[in-house]
Amino acid sequence: MTKTVHHFIDGKITLGKSGRMGDVFNPATGDVTAQVALATADEVRMAIASATKALPAWAAMPPARRTQIMFKFRDLLISHTEEIATLLSAEHGKTLPDAKGELGRGIEVVEFACGIPHLLKGEYSENVGTNVDSYSVRQPVGVVAGITPFNFPAMVPMWMYPVALMCGNTFILKPSERDPSVVLRVAELLSEAGLPDGVLNVINGDKEAVDTLLTDPGVAAISFVGSTTIGEYIYKTGCAHGKRVQALCGAKNHMVVMPDADMEQATDALIGAGYGSAGERCMAISVAVAVGDEAADELVKRLAPRVQALKVAPYTDPESELGPVISRDSLDRIKGYIDSGLEAGAELVVDGRDVSLQGYENGYFLGGCLFDRVTKDMDIYKDEIFGPVLSVVRAKDYDEALGLVNDHEYGNGAAIFTRDGDAARSFANQAKIGMIGINVPIPVPVAYHSFGGWKRSLFGDHHIHGMEGVRFYTKLKTMTTRWPSGIREGAEFHFKRGSEH
Ligand code: NAD
Repeated sequence: MTKTVHHFIDGKITLGKSGRMGDVFNPATGDVTAQVALATADEVRMAIASATKALPAWAAMPPARRTQIMFKFRDLLISHTEEIATLLSAEHGKTLPDAKGELGRGIEVVEFACGIPHLLKGEYSENVGTNVDSYSVRQPVGVVAGITPFNFPAMVPMWMYPVALMCGNTFILKPSERDPSVVLRVAELLSEAGLPDGVLNVINGDKEAVDTLLTDPGVAAISFVGSTTIGEYIYKTGCAHGKRVQALCGAKNHMVVMPDADMEQATDALIGAGYGSAGERCMAISVAVAVGDEAADELVKRLAPRVQALKVAPYTDPESELGPVISRDSLDRIKGYIDSGLEAGAELVVDGRDVSLQGYENGYFLGGCLFDRVTKDMDIYKDEIFGPVLSVVRAKDYDEALGLVNDHEYGNGAAIFTRDGDAARSFANQAKIGMIGINVPIPVPVAYHSFGGWKRSLFGDHHIHGMEGVRFYTKLKTMTTRWPSGIREGAEFHFKRGSEH
């Protein structure tokens, strides 16, 4: 019998009653391993009601008490790492070390969130006018909803709720219906750490659940991470319903390899960043821009045997370097892009399509694929493929490489590999991209900095976690105060400068 994944409302697992279920697969075998309940609008409203009821007491709780809960949660995450990582790999397909790595990055956000009271302190100015003082505080926005993608089922939700909760908000999380189990288990741990009922609710579901969160007046703000098509819809719909929205979306991350780069280091970087997690990372490098034919030839010569040798295997094999992609649809879509690249005239140097693993014939495996001589008019260059496919584009010089980065519709991350300080500095300054790596292929900011892209990789004004997260999950309020002992000025009919008071 397959298990059923339900909801977590008001501090307990709550059985879904919609009668609508989605299949959850083990991507390594293609077997259905669970059914996930898909919530109705009424079930989502139950979660909103629970979060609304929990809000006043939670917002009023001294921040240091909230920290104690978050700190205990952090310890529980560490002691349950093996269990959570295994649950994660079984539904997502990524290798166990990668699952543990993702959880570790999530725990760092929890650790950052423990220190948030420091960031809520506000500002105070004494005597902005005679006997007049002014101070600002950051207050919670209210009930916040988070809608998250399949590719980081533990970490991406942790970019959101630890920060939102520590700012005094309550939260409703709608994880991906493709790997929903981790979030539910983690919600139980947060409850065990002492979180009051209703402060974090988890609703499983699809468009119906999301649309309810986007339109219900009880939700004040939405954090979304996922594809650009859906993110743009979330942003527009949420904003039209008066909500604060941040939507972090798709990507096509370029890595510029200058002729003076350490080619061995650049090759290692491309193998990890292009094929790690089967390329299903919004910060994966999917385009290598080699500057000059000599650098391009050298790079392709080094990359090809390494891509060919990648160990494709399920997460249960400790030697696995490349697990399956998330679904049959995804596998077909990626293969469709490989056909399209070939038709457009790109050179498929390594073709990973024919991989077959004994005992896992129905799994969604694809070997590493490497294209050379990709040009900017090709779909494999323009679109996010989200699979283990790396494209090499040849640029004649640095300016052409920078132009490619800047003209692309996405602007999440980009890297440059070089020993030339001038080129590196120019790139950091000129690239129209949210996160830049200098000889670092996946420049994911640590928890106390903020994560986010530019252009069509982000809709909204705020990046996520770090100080930007605190800004997104709080509203600024500024008080101006005067006490009766101050000078009496009588009725005032015109604005005065502070210095005139
Ligand atoms: P997705 O957009 O399909 O799904 C994201 C969420 O939206 C899920 O919870 C899903 O249930 C919901 N959703 C899907 N269709 C919907 C619809 N029609 N209406 C309302 N809600 C809907 O994304 P995915 O395939 O799960 O994740 C991969 C994508 O996420 C990639 O594009 C990747 O680049 C992106 N991503 C971006 C970042 C970032 O920080 N920029 C991080 C991780 C992933």
